Amino acid sequence: MTDFAGNQLIIEVVYLVASALFILSLKWLSSPTTARRGVRAGEIGMVLAIAGTLMHHGIVDYKWIVIALVLGSGIGIPLGLVHMTAVPQRTALSHAFGALCVTLVGSAEFYLRSPDVSRFMMSVLSMEVILGSLTFTGSLMAAGKLQEILPQRPLTYKGQNLVNLSFLVIAIGIAVYLVLHPGAKQLFPAMIVIPLIFGVLMIVPIGGADMPTVISLLNSYAGLSAAAMGFVLDSKLLIIAGALDGSSGFILSVIMSKAMNRSFTNVLFGAFGQVQASTAGATEERPVHSATPEEAAGILAAANSVVIVPGYGMAVAQAQHKVRELYDVLTKRGVNVRFAIHPVAGRMPGHMNVLLAEADIPYDRLTEMDDINGDFPQTDVALVIGANDVTNPAARTDSGSPIYGMPILDVDKARTVMVIKRSMSPGFAGVDNPLYYMDKTLMLFGDAKSFVNSIVHELNGAH
Ligand code: NAP
Repeated sequence: MTDFAGNQLIIEVVYLVASALFILSLKWLSSPTTARRGVRAGEIGMVLAIAGTLMHHGIVDYKWIVIALVLGSGIGIPLGLVHMTAVPQRTALSHAFGALCVTLVGSAEFYLRSPDVSRFMMSVLSMEVILGSLTFTGSLMAAGKLQEILPQRPLTYKGQNLVNLSFLVIAIGIAVYLVLHPGAKQLFPAMIVIPLIFGVLMIVPIGGADMPTVISLLNSYAGLSAAAMGFVLDSKLLIIAGALDGSSGFILSVIMSKAMNRSFTNVLFGAFGQVQASTAGATEERPVHSATPEEAAGILAAANSVVIVPGYGMAVAQAQHKVRELYDVLTKRGVNVRFAIHPVAGRMPGHMNVLLAEADIPYDRLTEMDDINGDFPQTDVALVIGANDVTNPAARTDSGSPIYGMPILDVDKARTVMVIKRSMSPGFAGVDNPLYYMDKTLMLFGDAKSFVNSIVHELNGAH
C-alpha cells in the first residue's frame, strides 16, 4: 500500500468513527441520564473530524489553518461561556457562522469549477449557497431579536408574504438557469445576494416569542446546506453530520410548535408575539391573596404531596440550588416532592431539565406534563416558581386568548396553589393569568431565589 492510500484509509476510518459518535451523541442526548455522555461523544466526534481533515494530502501549508483555528477558538470560547438564558441567541450565532462558511466554500468551489460543473453538482451547489445565505442573515436577525438589539415586535404589511416569496422564487430561478448554463458566472453573485435579503425579510414578520422555534428551523436549514456541501466536496462525514443536524432541527421545531399549539405556517406567517395590551390592562382591579415566607413554609410543612413547577423566572433568578435545598428539607420531613416539567417552560427546549440537573435534583423526581397532569387533583400544594404561561388555565378555557389550545400544566386543579414571582406582570406571551385570582391561590411576591431561601430558612428554623 502506498503512503497516499494508507493515509486515505486512516482518514476514512477516522471519519467513520466520528460519524458513529455523532449518531450516538444524538441518541444519548435524548435522556437526562445519558446526556453528559452524549455531549462528550459529540465533542470527541468533532475533534476526530477536524483531525481527519487536517491529515488530507491536499494541504500544503498549515499556516493559514493555524491562524483560523486560533481565531475561531478566540471567538468560540467566550461564546461558550454565555449565561444559560442567552443560549438561544448564541446558538443562532453559531448557525450564522456555519452558514457563512458553507456559502463561502460553495462560492469558491463554483468559481474553481465553472463552466465544467455537472447538472447534479450545480444543483447541490445552488442549494448549498441559497440555504447558506438565507440562514446566515436569518440567524443574525433572530439573534438580534432575542438579544433585543432589534425590535422583538413583528413588522408586517399587506402582501408581505408574496414579496418575500418572490425573492426566493427569483433565487431558485437563477439556480435553475445556472444548472443549465454553469458558465454564466455573472449570475452567481445574484444567487447569493437575493437569499441574503430573503433571510432578513423572512424574520421581520416573526415576533420574539417565536424566535426559539425559528432558530431550530434555521438549524435545520444550516444542516441541509452542510449536507449539500458534503456532496460538493465529496465528504461522507459532512453529508451524515448535515443530515443529522437538518433532521434533528426539524423534529425539534415540530415538537416546540406542538407544545405551543402552533402550526409551522402559523409560526412563519402568523406574526405572533405582539404584546396583548388589551388583556394585560385588565389585571389592575382584581384582588389577589398574598402570603409571607413564614406562611408559605407552614403550608408546605403540613403537606403530604408537593409538585414544584419551575419556569423562566427560576432561570432568571438562578434559584435552582435554593430549590434543591427546599426539596431536601421537605423530603427530610417526609413530604413527597416532585417537579412538573412543561416542554416549553423557560426559553429553550430542556431548559428546566438542565437547571435542575445542575442542582443535582434526582432525575426520577422530574415528571413530564402528560404524566403529572392527572395527579394535580390529589396534590396538596402546587408551588409555581417563576412560571406563568405554562400554567395559564385560559389556554384551556378562553377561546379568545392568544394561547388558547396550548397544552398547560393543570396546577389550578391542585388543592392549594402558591406562585412565586415578583409582580403581576404577564409572562412571555404577554397575557394575564386567571390562576392568580383564584381563592385557592396564594401569591408569594419576590425574587425566586431569595423567596425560596426565606422559606428554607423558616422550615429549618421550625424544627
Ligand atoms: P413565562 O410565561 O415567560 O413567565 C415567567 C415569569 O417569571 C414571569 O411572569 C415573571 O414575572 C417571572 N419572573 C421573572 N424573573 C423572576 C425572578 N427573578 N424571580 C421570580 N419570578 C421571576 O415563563 P414560562 O411559564 O416558563 O413559559 C415559557 C414561555 O416562553 C411560554 O410562553 C413559551 O411558549 C415561551 N417559549 C418557550 C420556549 C422554550 O423552548 N422553552 C421557546 C419559545 C417560546 P415577574 O416579572 O412578575 O417576576
